[in-house]
Amino acid sequence: MARRTRTRFWDPSGNRYGIPTYPRKKIPPHLRTLRQLAAEGLRPGGQEPQAQVLWCSRLPGPPRVRAAYLYDVRFALPKRSRRTRTTPPKVNTSRRTCSECLTDVGYVLPRHLGVCLDCAEEAAA
Ligand SMILES: [Zn+2]
Repeated sequence: MARRTRTRFWDPSGNRYGIPTYPRKKIPPHLRTLRQLAAEGLRPGGQEPQAQVLWCSRLPGPPRVRAAYLYDVRFALPKRSRRTRTTPPKVNTSRRTCSECLTDVGYVLPRHLGVCLDCAEEAAA
């Protein structure tokens, strides 16, 4: 019984579950969940999920199967760093400065508007 539980989610070929499936303790070393990628400063980088991990939730009540997608770390890309997000490069200030109210609005102006969102809204009103 215990043995059956251990192999229940073992399906590397994906025959049973549609995509390659592993139990939590048998995940191949090159596969990561989104959370694991993020912890390493990575993101999937446009790849489809390569596999999934299944496990039984330990919450009270009827047992529920939980799933998380797995991504290949070899195709992962570095996450955009937090530093870049909090201090945007100065080269962008002209693209962030509205020609209407002459304010650096802090975001790149939508090209189809040419002005900041506030001015565009005012113009539309
Ligand atoms: Zn404006």
